[in-house]
Amino acid sequence: MASLPHLCTQMPIPPELQADADMKSIQENPLNGHQITTGAPVQGGGPPTSLALPIGSLWKNGRTLRVKILNGSDKIKGKIRQYGSLWTQFANLRMEFVDSGNADIRVNVDASGGSWSYVGTGNLVIAQNQPTMNFGWLTDNTAEDEFSRVIIHEFGHALGCIHEHQSPAANIPWNREAVYNYYQVTQGWSRAQVDVNIFQLYDRSTTQFSAWDAGSIMLYAIPASLTTNGFSTGWNRQLSETDKAFIAKTYPPEGMDIASFNTMEIRPWDQPTKEAMKRQTYPAPYNTPPKFAVGLNWLDIDHATNIRVKAYADNITKTAADMHIDTWADTTLYSAGCTWMRIAADDPDFQTGQFSTQDDHPWQNPQMKTSRAIKFDRPFAAGGAAAPPKVVIWLNVLDMQAGKNWRINATATDVTATGFTIHLDTWADTVLYVASAAWIAYPAGKPGVTSGTYNTQDVRPWDKPQLANSGRVNFPAGVFQGTPKAVLLAFNSMDIDQGKNLRLRLSADSVSKDGFNWHADSWYDTILYSAGASYIAFA
Ligand SMILES: [Zn+2]
Repeated sequence: MASLPHLCTQMPIPPELQADADMKSIQENPLNGHQITTGAPVQGGGPPTSLALPIGSLWKNGRTLRVKILNGSDKIKGKIRQYGSLWTQFANLRMEFVDSGNADIRVNVDASGGSWSYVGTGNLVIAQNQPTMNFGWLTDNTAEDEFSRVIIHEFGHALGCIHEHQSPAANIPWNREAVYNYYQVTQGWSRAQVDVNIFQLYDRSTTQFSAWDAGSIMLYAIPASLTTNGFSTGWNRQLSETDKAFIAKTYPPEGMDIASFNTMEIRPWDQPTKEAMKRQTYPAPYNTPPKFAVGLNWLDIDHATNIRVKAYADNITKTAADMHIDTWADTTLYSAGCTWMRIAADDPDFQTGQFSTQDDHPWQNPQMKTSRAIKFDRPFAAGGAAAPPKVVIWLNVLDMQAGKNWRINATATDVTATGFTIHLDTWADTVLYVASAAWIAYPAGKPGVTSGTYNTQDVRPWDKPQLANSGRVNFPAGVFQGTPKAVLLAFNSMDIDQGKNLRLRLSADSVSKDGFNWHADSWYDTILYSAGASYIAFA
């Protein structure tokens, strides 16, 4: 029996619990919805393979996870504590092993069950009286390096790590027929099971992953007979240097600032409401209530009725504000998300404001093009001379008719030291009842700040719609000495087919002092012609 490989299974969330799991993931860590992660660029990642919402499964950074070992000998329990907690030497997470009360991770030692674990925040939807992890072949006689291999591996899943051979970055030259045969003989797997457990790569929009790492503890052994070029790996039995660096990046000592609200923090997507609000306390108080620039960066709205959504802050005090995302009338808003930038009322550099098409004409008289000359409160200067600032535009209110494609473009033109022209335009047969946008302006040469725009049309034409879109933003050389403290993204443009639901969200990975990889993704059957965003990054 010793020659048969013991394989682990990543436990999928039961479908009926998925909406609840999505909500709990975003409640646990808002970054699971609005994913912005740091690090060097990672190659790989094809189009989304599943119908699932693009929601991650990371624990809140800095959290203490309660771990309860349900059974097993004292020796096995000791090994689980020893090897299970190894990851936390490199991650900003702690593990507290408890004997009673509720626990986030519940470890079963049961020879009838194989070895498996749920992944990351997926653990949160499993009933407290059920295990979330099982060890199927550990005994007091198990070899030390097998304790190490399987325990570190399963706890990797519990922290959100996926199987390395199914990483979006994996590019293993499989000899497919040999693989089907091997797992049929050794595990009794059908071809479909092999497809799911070996060949299918995870969607890059829902998973955290590193560059491909043949030494990863999260990799199955790969005999040379299963590849077309003789590539092979044995069983990895300890954390690789890439594993350590990956978990350190995933749960960093000091996380980036998060300015993010998603309606799924309040309710699951499949229980839509008209209004969602969450009070947000600032990291530090202001002398007077700050101003807010708010931008939408996630939308999932039913196509049968008009697209109506509004993101805003109110009840703004020196220490906190209410962030709202609302819809109205007969619109079904499954979920939506926004970001914001707070600007001190007396900030010497940043200015912000808001413009709505309703400042120009009533909603029931829709127009194709709307513009307005915006005058700054104070003129901008650089080196003592008047100089045009940088301007960022974020959409935060949309009201567009059903039955016509949803097209909107928000831009700034004619930027001078004293003002600029804001444009909220649509085109073709779209009926745009209302659009509103926030604007942010700051001196062009201000150290430690940069901004810009990007669009899916930078990487493909609009008439070749696809769900997953990504590209690269390079910051100007020398703007940042280290990773910026915040990168804020929101829509400035979209063009989406009215025949399917409007689903669109922004994220970024590989944020460093040099730039970031942007993603503008849809999911399921949405037809995304184009989408664009404005970003601002600051140290
Ligand atoms: Zn596994």
